Amino acid sequence: MAQFDLFVIGAGSAGVRAARMAAQRGARVAVAEAAALGGTCVNVGCVPKKLYSYAAHFADDFRDAAGFGWHLPPATFDWAVLKKNRAAEITRLNGIYENLLTGAGAQIVTGWASVVDANTVRVQTAAGVESFSAKHILIATGGQPSVPQFPGREFVVSSDSMFDLETFPRRLLVVGGGYIACEFASIFNGLGSQVTQLYRGEQILRGFDDEVRAFIAQEVRKHGVDLRVGSDVQSVEKTSSGLVATLVDGSTIEADTVLYATGRVPNVAALGLDSVGVERGASGAIVVDEHYVTSVKSILAIGDVTARMQLTPVALAEAMVVVDRLFGAGKRDMSYEFISTAVFTHPSIGTVGYGEAQARETFGRITVYRSEFKSLKHTLSGSSERTLMKLIVEDATDRVVGLHMVGADAGEVVQGFAVAMKAGATKAVFDSTIGIHPTMAEEFVTMR
Ligand code: FAD
Ligand code: NDP
Repeated sequence: MAQFDLFVIGAGSAGVRAARMAAQRGARVAVAEAAALGGTCVNVGCVPKKLYSYAAHFADDFRDAAGFGWHLPPATFDWAVLKKNRAAEITRLNGIYENLLTGAGAQIVTGWASVVDANTVRVQTAAGVESFSAKHILIATGGQPSVPQFPGREFVVSSDSMFDLETFPRRLLVVGGGYIACEFASIFNGLGSQVTQLYRGEQILRGFDDEVRAFIAQEVRKHGVDLRVGSDVQSVEKTSSGLVATLVDGSTIEADTVLYATGRVPNVAALGLDSVGVERGASGAIVVDEHYVTSVKSILAIGDVTARMQLTPVALAEAMVVVDRLFGAGKRDMSYEFISTAVFTHPSIGTVGYGEAQARETFGRITVYRSEFKSLKHTLSGSSERTLMKLIVEDATDRVVGLHMVGADAGEVVQGFAVAMKAGATKAVFDSTIGIHPTMAEEFVTMR
């Protein structure tokens, strides 16, 4: 049986990073992948989603151009071209991931892996079953979409299918109010679909700052998304003219495609975890300690399969912590505080730290600074899009504990400020920072 220091199950964001870095440090590493290298982020997540978001933004750009003197012929959109170009780029990235792994000296095993005991992995490859012995086993199997049970569930799709829909959906019904539902509603709205988004609660994007939630709801509606809150689907039927969703209030919506973006669950089925005694928590997520060690000491788990913060940079950082501890000279700590994130709606959201209500609950006395305005660009474009920027400061320390933006390129703006906040920047430091003029980002250092 082949012997390894580390056997990684899953070559997504977390698994590739861990396998590559461990191999670079001289460990004997193998990584099993049942599907395409790169996992969710590369194949059906962050990367294709962002490419489609760029595609959708052109609709706004063409409209905005008129106010700046450009006269363009009516633009037409070709779904087949976008799909073909996206697929080619993803194939290129799959190749890069393969080269990164093999270049570092990791062995790629193609097939479904399961854990046999604390130090043995079995992989069902095309050639048959192969067994591997490893000092450490790292489970990085990610997650998959979760769609609730209801009559007509077989007619709806998850985000996994959206990138390659055979026919462009003229009418799209999106169910959910989280990251994926909001992003896909904006993207397909921009690409030309008539989008209805249904969210069962009072306001989309639970967990975000309440003002940000209300503001983005208003902005996406202005962009054309028919966003309905307090609304849910009861059943879906297929008719000769498309899909008909019956809502809980009895009304109906006709659509060509119904997207369910109602959360994701960890990939833990058929992994052999029960027989080995790996403890699991809510919806099957693998339970780990601060070193990502499971209830079986030689088995570790990182990334979406642990259902903490389901973000690629978090998965990458967790991989580095594990590799440093197992094969590095030093130790690296992982902090889940002040992790910045973006929602690629149109306009986008960038956020780091605490929302207003959350900050008040945590720190007691806080001061909130906010600015809402029409950006310089839109004074000529004719667009009614507005931008919101918000700073939350803890009174006792003057530390900036929350920073939020809804507006163009919010993620790009917020990333830099996240460094300042990790470093503990106070409002006084923000105030003493000279802005870059004219930008939107300068608002964050001029709020008084
Ligand atoms: P994954 O990337 O899911 O990788 C797990 C891998 O394990 C998969 O390749 C799977 O095939 C393989 N696998 C599973 N079981 C087995 C087995 N038994 N044997 C062999 N292989 C197995 N995050 C961001 O930070 N920014 C974004 O903009 C963003 N956009 C997203 C958009 C969408 C539509 C989705 C769905 C997610 C998005 N995410 C985004 C989240 C991000 O993709 C995940 O957090 C990240 O991919 C998690 O990495 P992972 O390695 O834990 O899991
Ligand atoms: P989320 O958990 O973010 O959102 C799920 C949504 O579906 C919530 O609005 C939830 O409502 C709703 N919902 C859950 N169950 C049901 C149900 N049975 N019926 C109706 N509605 C339901 O999951 P997503 O699938 O959007 O995304 C998964 C994760 O992927 C995200 O949390 C994020 O970490 C990551 N991601 C990151 C992105 C980024 O960084 N830009 C982009 C895309 C994904 P309620 O609020 O009431 O529970």
